Amino acid sequence: MTQDPRSGLLCAALDAAARGWHVFPLRPGTKRPALHGEKTCTRTGPCTDGHRKWEQRATTDPDRIRAAWSRAPFNVGIATGPSGLVVIDLDVPKDKSSSDAPDGAATFQALCERAAHPAPTTYRTRTASGGTHLYFTAPPGVRLSNTAGSVSPLVDTRAHGGYVVAAGSITPAGRYEALCAPVAAPLPGWLLSVLRPAPKPVQAPTGVTVGRSRLYADVALANETRNVATAADGTRNATLLRAARALGRLIASGDLTRVQVEQALREAAAGNATQSQRYYDDVIRRGLDWSIAHNPTRRRAA
Ligand SMILES: [Zn+2]
Repeated sequence: MTQDPRSGLLCAALDAAARGWHVFPLRPGTKRPALHGEKTCTRTGPCTDGHRKWEQRATTDPDRIRAAWSRAPFNVGIATGPSGLVVIDLDVPKDKSSSDAPDGAATFQALCERAAHPAPTTYRTRTASGGTHLYFTAPPGVRLSNTAGSVSPLVDTRAHGGYVVAAGSITPAGRYEALCAPVAAPLPGWLLSVLRPAPKPVQAPTGVTVGRSRLYADVALANETRNVATAADGTRNATLLRAARALGRLIASGDLTRVQVEQALREAAAGNATQSQRYYDDVIRRGLDWSIAHNPTRRRAA
């Protein structure tokens, strides 16, 4: 006897709601909302006082969830904004023929390394296409929106205005599965600084705007120079080389200038020196040259 697919999906919806996440139905076997759009709204039922989209209709109410999922084997959408979630979506390249292209997980790992932080442990799901969703609770008082590829290639985020497909949902490509850590951890501060909206452009004569990636680059520069300045005896040269390689990527991407990085690392090394300045300059040069040669060049820094 086969189990009614509705009961498994109902369980998935109730499980998400029990975590405090606001769910809504997705069309069976798809990732698209099952609720009507504004153009086809009849201004009846929940829309009597005006159309309400999925983000507003998403609920944690078990009775409403049971009623909805008794009608059809809906997949489960989680509206990330009302759920207080920030979900990082690590995708896999669409073009499977170029198997050596880095996927979102590798890109995110590199992001963590550049920021000198371990990859955070939190509730995560594997998506039907083989990607990963990392769930974090949003920091109070900060309104984050979706991003698409602006943090890193193949790294998207879902927050206000976005949704994710919950574990237990099934598409022709496969099933969404929950993995490891049972709870969503708070979004780490360093990740927040990468994800939060860029500040409004400063109305100064220079007209310089600090974009998200530039903010991130500044954090990375501060972290790496601190590592060098505080490196213990016996680890200093390796730390300096690692810092130069990490920051070289941000020179290649145009987020930092070589002069800026060389100066910061020189100063950090000089303040904690057991070798000559010339020796450290050579380590920095080798690290930067290697990294710039091995990382994609995107654009030049302003
Ligand atoms: Zn409506």
